[in-house]
Amino acid sequence: MDDIDFGCTSCGKCCHDLRLALTIAEAIAWLERGGQMELICEAIPWPVEPEPGNAQAEYKRARSSPAMSGSLPVRISIVLAAAFGGACPNLHADMRCGIYEQRPLVCRIYPAEINPFVELVPENKGCPSDAWQGEPLQRQGMIVDATTVELIGQSRRANQLEAPLRMQVCLDLGLNDAALANEGFVMVSPDSDALLTALRRLHVTMPEAQTAAAQWTFVSNRTGTLETLLSVGATGHLAEPTMAGNARYHGFFPPS
Ligand code: SF4
Ligand code: SF4
Repeated sequence: MDDIDFGCTSCGKCCHDLRLALTIAEAIAWLERGGQMELICEAIPWPVEPEPGNAQAEYKRARSSPAMSGSLPVRISIVLAAAFGGACPNLHADMRCGIYEQRPLVCRIYPAEINPFVELVPENKGCPSDAWQGEPLQRQGMIVDATTVELIGQSRRANQLEAPLRMQVCLDLGLNDAALANEGFVMVSPDSDALLTALRRLHVTMPEAQTAAAQWTFVSNRTGTLETLLSVGATGHLAEPTMAGNARYHGFFPPS
């Protein structure tokens, strides 16, 4: 695996057209600054627990919450994302970040990957070619920059610890539609005030039994997927061009 050096050129390319996955505290701060947020929901059928030692399944399990779709056990993965088209609302005209000292973890970690199962590929990043020199970032496939290692650890811990809280926010807002994992996303743009209120009252934690029994509905743009899900006891419906509650379906595949 290639060794990778890196030095940010402050070109600002990575600060455009994004959905930034935020922690709860970061999401509250983002909304308080007037930014827009989305909730991105996917469901993983989870009829049985995977065999021990399946690291990828354990990673997904730790960052999702149990629920039901009809009689099918599922795990719901929810991303709290700051969403913007064009330049980030915090980006100044000279490409400086206006909240540099308070910028989210994901901005501090970029271009490194947070998910340990995703390889860092410089060609897939927005950084110019002269950014790929400077300090050692990766050696033999491992991130070696101490600050980045620490920040990735913080991000992974928050993502895991806050999974039940993200579920609680969705239930609080009455959201329970999700795409089948790896086939698409359901993206919801909630009212900012309602989301902020739901995030601020998260210190009252809902018992897991209550979230585990919550009913979620699959949304898909493929009839074959829906038929399969319904045949194993799930509930679901076809994606419609306009969905209720500022939600929309983003499929990875053409409708069929
Ligand atoms: S918060 Fe700052 S670093 Fe992050 S995308 Fe916006 S301008 Fe860029
Ligand atoms: S695209 Fe890369 S080089 Fe440019 S500001 Fe972002 S991290 Fe730095």
